[in-house]
This record gives sequence, structure tokens and C-alpha cells, in this order.
Amino acid sequence: MLSEFDLIKQYFQRVRPGKAALGIGDDCALLAPTPGRQIAISSDMLVEDRHFFAGADPRMLGHKSLAVNLSDLAAMGARPVAFTLALALPRADPHWLEGFSSGLFALADAFDCELIGGDTTRGPLNICITVFGELAPGHALRRDAARPGDDIWISGTLGDARLALAGSLGEVGLDAEAHAQAALRMHLPSPRVALGLALAGAPAAHAALDISDGLVGDLGHILAASGVGATLDVDALPAGPVLARQPLELRRRFTAAGGDDYELCFTAPAHARAAVLAAGAETGTAVTRVGTIDVALGLRMVDASGAPLDLGLRGWDHFVAA
Ligand code: ADP
Ligand code: MG
Repeated sequence: MLSEFDLIKQYFQRVRPGKAALGIGDDCALLAPTPGRQIAISSDMLVEDRHFFAGADPRMLGHKSLAVNLSDLAAMGARPVAFTLALALPRADPHWLEGFSSGLFALADAFDCELIGGDTTRGPLNICITVFGELAPGHALRRDAARPGDDIWISGTLGDARLALAGSLGEVGLDAEAHAQAALRMHLPSPRVALGLALAGAPAAHAALDISDGLVGDLGHILAASGVGATLDVDALPAGPVLARQPLELRRRFTAAGGDDYELCFTAPAHARAAVLAAGAETGTAVTRVGTIDVALGLRMVDASGAPLDLGLRGWDHFVAA
């Protein structure tokens, strides 16, 4: 039987020199921040039966737990540095721990983000990661920075993760191959860290956030924080490759209010269009212009012809939707 401390040592404490001045093993980790930089901090929790189904593949869960946190750093334009991991586990299952830690560290290494500490306890499966990143003062892509006249942009594609969920719940019929392809978007999101850094560094973008609860709801946070409104061309929204083969009504609904996308939604002044496209090209990330920030409050959705569209959509809310 693995003890708590054997478990930490075997699966989470790596014997290799890291960036932290002091890593796992003491009461606190010690980080030496780069002089003159601000530290960006964010936590995201994944709870069994709420964010993922019981029995979810542990390797994918390791990836996704960190990916959703790195996505927050991306949305702020911060460079990943380190993270902590608070884990509640029903049992010390070596197979689960092996899979989870390998998925977690594969992504951590890809983004040079070091695990520097955490907490481990027995309990219903619950994974909480806190990430630390760095950015230049004044360069953060804040939600309150959208300005009237800004273009609204989206990275990558939207809706395939929601389509996979719909397939699992039997809301739509999907063949096995299409479902498997869409499910990869749900289980293995790619945090847009390089794009976030390029947009903040240029600087090309004003406001940004990552789309976790559906574009319409998340964009609403930018509008509220910035005291502005927007017009969104729903038919310009880039659909994921699997969703792109679905009927128009489903495409509109799942691109505009899917969830679990982990793409960036950002605003940028019209004079920065070339800089935004360059940031996309430089980082190998598709960027699509999908609307405009307005002085008039509220979110107006239009179709490709500019006619108003009422999809009756709202973003995901854990308490309202529960
Ligand atoms: P404390 O007694 O302060 O609660 P712990 O005994 O929980 O400390 O943890 C011992 C060390 O192991 C600490 O450095 C802590 O940060 C680290 N740690 C605990 N759980 C994890 C985990 N899941 N991942 C990484 N480090 C962990
Ligand atoms: Mg502890």
C-alpha cells in the first residue's frame, strides 16, 4: 500500500534541477521571480461528475487539469513558470497515478512549467491546480480593456468539445469516428500560450479571455468589465472540423455557446489587424475576426447577411444550470 509521502515522491517529485529556488519537499516552495516582472496567478479545479465523467482516462485528465490552467495564463499574455497541485483521491491507485502524472508532466514539460508543490488527501476525486506565470507590467490582456471600435477575434476553432459531449449524452447522433475526433478536443485542449504571449508582447490586443463556458457567456465578461457592447457575426465563428459537417443550427449554437473550447477571445484595434495576423502566423494559430466592440451596451448577434439572430443562448453557470 502506498503511503501519502511515497505517493508524492514516486509520482510527483522529480529528481532533476528545476527553475524554483526550492521545489517539492518543504513547507513552502521558493520562487525567484524575474526582476521587473509581474506574477500572474490562477487556479482551476476539476471535479469528478461535474467537469469529467467517473472513469475518465487518467492520462487525459492529467493533461486537461494543467491545460485549463495554462489557458488562463495564455489569456492574460503570461509566460508559464510553475504550478502547484492539490489532489483528493479516493484511493492510491498506481495505474491511475502513473497515467495522470505522465499526462500532466508531458504538458508541463512542453510549456516549461514546473510542479513545485501541492497537497494530497483522500476524498472524492478532485484536482485543483494553481499556476504562476510572468509578464511585463502594463502588458496583461485584461478583461476591462476592450474599447469601442475594437475587432473581436477568436483563436482556433470552436464547438467540437460541446459536440462530443452532445454525442456522449445522446443529444445528437455521431458516428464513432467523428465522436472520437471531437472528443479529443474535449479531453486534450491546447492552451494558446504562444499566441497570448505574442498578442501581449506586440502589443496587438486590448482585452482577452479564454473561452471555457461558451463564447457568448465569456465575451459577456469582457463587455461587462469594459463597459461596452458588441456585435457578433455568428456565421463567421470558426467551427471545429467535426462540427463543420453538422447542420447550420447546431453549428451556430455550439460555436456561439459550446463550452470547454479553451480558445482565446480577444479584442484589438482595427489598426492592429496586421499585427494580430502576424501573431497568429508566427505561432501557428488560426485567428478569425468575428465581430466588433460597440459603444451601445449589450450583445447583438447577427448572421452572415447582418440580420439579427436570436439563438436564445447563454453561457454555462455551475449554479444556475445545476
Ligand atoms: P504539509 O505538511 O505542509 O501539509 P505535505 O505533507 O502536504 O505538507 O506535503 C509535503 C510536500 O509535498 C510539500 O512540499 C508539498 O508541497 C508537496 N506535495 C504534497 N502533495 C503534492 C502533490 N500532489 N504534488 C506535488 N507536491 C505535493
Ligand atoms: Mg499539506
